[in-house]
Amino acid sequence: MSLIQIQNYINGNLVDAISGNALSNVNPATGEIFAMIPDSDSADVLEAIEAAKCAQADWSNMPMETRFDWIMKIANGIQARFDEFVLAESTDNGKPTWLAAQSDIPRAISNFKFFASAQMNFPSESHHTPGQGLNYTLRRPLGVVGCISPWNLPLYLFSWKIAPALAAGNTVVAKPSEITPYTSYLLSTVCKEIDFPKGVLNVVHGLGAKVGQAIVEHKDIKAVAFTGGTQTGRIINEICARQFKKVSLELGGKNPNIIFDDANLEEAVDTTIRSSFNNQGQICLCGSRIFVQESIYEAFKSLFIKRVEALTVGDPYTDINLGAVVSQDHQQKILSYIQLAKEEGGTILTGGEAFHPEGRCKNGFFIKPTVIEGLSHLCRVNQEEIFGPVVTLTPFKSEVYAIEMANSTPYGLACSIWTQDVKKAHQVAEQIESGIVWINTWMVRDLRTPFGGMKESGMGREGGFEAMRFFTEPKNVFVKY
Ligand code: NDP
Repeated sequence: MSLIQIQNYINGNLVDAISGNALSNVNPATGEIFAMIPDSDSADVLEAIEAAKCAQADWSNMPMETRFDWIMKIANGIQARFDEFVLAESTDNGKPTWLAAQSDIPRAISNFKFFASAQMNFPSESHHTPGQGLNYTLRRPLGVVGCISPWNLPLYLFSWKIAPALAAGNTVVAKPSEITPYTSYLLSTVCKEIDFPKGVLNVVHGLGAKVGQAIVEHKDIKAVAFTGGTQTGRIINEICARQFKKVSLELGGKNPNIIFDDANLEEAVDTTIRSSFNNQGQICLCGSRIFVQESIYEAFKSLFIKRVEALTVGDPYTDINLGAVVSQDHQQKILSYIQLAKEEGGTILTGGEAFHPEGRCKNGFFIKPTVIEGLSHLCRVNQEEIFGPVVTLTPFKSEVYAIEMANSTPYGLACSIWTQDVKKAHQVAEQIESGIVWINTWMVRDLRTPFGGMKESGMGREGGFEAMRFFTEPKNVFVKY
């Protein structure tokens, strides 16, 4: 089969890297190279920035309704090629096709629809200074902005950034992860099909340290919206700080699930299965530390393990629960944490090894869903982000201790609390150090709500008007009367 040739999208054109160099793109479920992507560098980024600068004035001064129409055309263009996007996301990332069809692609479409409409409903403020006059706040686009996204939810997170950036009137230079570039390339082809105004969105593929960093460092990039690992976020933050550049960082997580003894056990187990292993545990919001109140610990454990052992792993194109993890390197990283868990005194209750399916996927990168117990909440396995299908179980006696353990990591992204006691639920939610708390559920996302993490899980918030505020510059105007 011939390899798919992924191209950059610069100034309305689909082009190869100026250098002519390319990187290979592997299907993690088979281990085979299925596409080549441009190995771009700062020369390609410069062209993209120039195109974005030229397109800026027209795009930002366009009537809101026209901008709405353009962004909706992108949403509709993805919808029209839904199955193609689903298959591409699964092939590129290793996730089951049902998951891409249920979550990734519909959500990418919603992101464009939501922000197309949000820019028309984004209010400006006015403050009356009694006896003197009126202040009003103008919110103007920033100019050219950079958007950089990771591999775990490729189009979902790519669109979560570029949709508000475009809606707010900015032009964009964006870089998806080089590990999963396929659906952002398909998005570029949609833009080409609908004749999207040239230079407004530019997508440059390649390595983070070359393409990503060139975007972040360029003086004409007015803001950077980044989702990825905490270490990369630190590098980007340092560069932006030197240039007084606006930056939004959505970083790693090590999220706790706290299950009290009055929780609805069936529901808690059911949802904890999803929050542990959805997308092979590669969602920043997955709960990887499960704290269970002592009196129901054994009951929870036996039900949970039974359910985990019933999960199927294998070919993402079939009706399985878990597909492949994203790459061989990532598989090795996850397995090294399982080994570390054993060295730290943990007991593997189930899983704990790579999985080798028969047939088409025999050389793919699979890991059995893994549950570990017997670890201190302060050990490395319970403190560092693994980002795979690996969770730990830890019993707790008191609410105070559960909160202490939950808050003990450098991260603070999300938390799920399970209890039927309303008062306790609110009290614990208040004390948890995370940007998002779910009570008796997981991963319910209303796009209007602030999204982001505390501590080393990030800086700033995305979502709803928070994103519109990030991508605009406020200016106060005072009028004397
Ligand atoms: P990385 O930080 O490795 O990469 C994220 C993106 O940044 C990629 O496009 C990458 O390029 C690029 N990049 C790498 N180095 C630089 C640099 N020096 N300058 C600019 N850009 C750079 O993260 P992963 O892709 O491995 O994604 C997994 C991480 O993302 C996990 O830690 C996860 O928790 C986090 N995440 C956070 C979310 C949140 O909302 N808080 C949501 C989803 C994931 P490339 O890889 O192509 O070289």
